[in-house]
Amino acid sequence: MAITSPNPLTVLIVDDQSATRVAVSAELDRVGHRVIEADSGEWALELFIRYRPDMVLLDVEMPVHDGYWTARAMRAAEPGGWTPILFLSQRDQDQDVWQGIDAGGDDYLIKPLSPMILHAKLRAMQRLIGMRQRLLEMSEELRLANAQLQELSSIDSLTGLMNRRALDARLHEEIGRARREGTPLTLVLCDVDFFKRYNDSLGHVEGDGCLRQVARLLSEACRRPSDCVARYGGEEFALVLPNTPRSGAMTYARTLTHLVTHAHIAHPDSPVASHVSLSGGITTCVPDASTTAEGLLIRADDALYTAKAHGRNRFFSYEMLLDTVEQRELLRATPKL
Ligand code: GH3
Ligand code: MG
Ligand code: MG
Ligand code: MG
Repeated sequence: MAITSPNPLTVLIVDDQSATRVAVSAELDRVGHRVIEADSGEWALELFIRYRPDMVLLDVEMPVHDGYWTARAMRAAEPGGWTPILFLSQRDQDQDVWQGIDAGGDDYLIKPLSPMILHAKLRAMQRLIGMRQRLLEMSEELRLANAQLQELSSIDSLTGLMNRRALDARLHEEIGRARREGTPLTLVLCDVDFFKRYNDSLGHVEGDGCLRQVARLLSEACRRPSDCVARYGGEEFALVLPNTPRSGAMTYARTLTHLVTHAHIAHPDSPVASHVSLSGGITTCVPDASTTAEGLLIRADDALYTAKAHGRNRFFSYEMLLDTVEQRELLRATPKL
């Protein structure tokens, strides 16, 4: 019979009778497979772990530990892995076959072995090994594709808001539109106050929940269809508010502070409030040829820094040089007509 194997395998042969090992070994060797031999269950297990063969031919009747014990031990030694195990036995009752498969075997061959049956079974197992390999490759490809998709996606997975990538594109678009229409455009960068302390006192899972709640509040604050909110990164959020002048932006920011205060998300360790609070930087302009997304982001970030420095839990306008708390005091001090 002229059989050669296109993909040589490393096969572990386990049999207490050397005559069987020699015969099977010679047969496999003849078609180009590599062979490792063991004469007992314990020794087979050791070789199995050390050499990780592609397939095991395993005698059922052996002294001390039989083939069933050996198969179970091999299965336990490769959790998640799968090496085909073919039992070899003189016993050919249905019950024997059942026991072999139950112990973790993949097929059951009756001794004495016919070379043609042996090669046919090996060929079938090789096919399974190939399919399994392909499956592993495909799941790796799938994992990579998912990672790339996530990268390309415009949605932040924690909050469901737009991510920074999408925000950048949107901001760019809105600058163009406002420039063409000659309308004021506002960008607000918000940052959760003392959020590190929030995580430290309540844990990261609660922290994630808090970011989701803040995201929901900010979305609710986007009443106009053209308003949009994004998670800018970490505990920072960005709002793009088309057609919103400086004073309107300040009113918007005070409403936002009101919403967040009334949501009363308890912050056990904030020096500025008993609840989670936000600081924000606002920039507003009617864009001209020199206006860029980067420029607006720098100004909003600058203003955010000032809001933090003024005591947090407030929004500072870059152009008005005023924060929402000072503005409220001013409004209170001005006598009503
Ligand atoms: P400040 O008022 O000056 O903004 O103080 P802060 O503690 O909020 O600022 P800091 O930059 O020191 O810390 C931000 C924290 O936000 C640290 C970081 O672990 C946490 N954080 C960022 N992203 C996530 C997130 O996705 N989930 C959680 N739970 N925490 C986050
Ligand atoms: Mg035997
Ligand atoms: Mg921050
Ligand atoms: Mg913060």
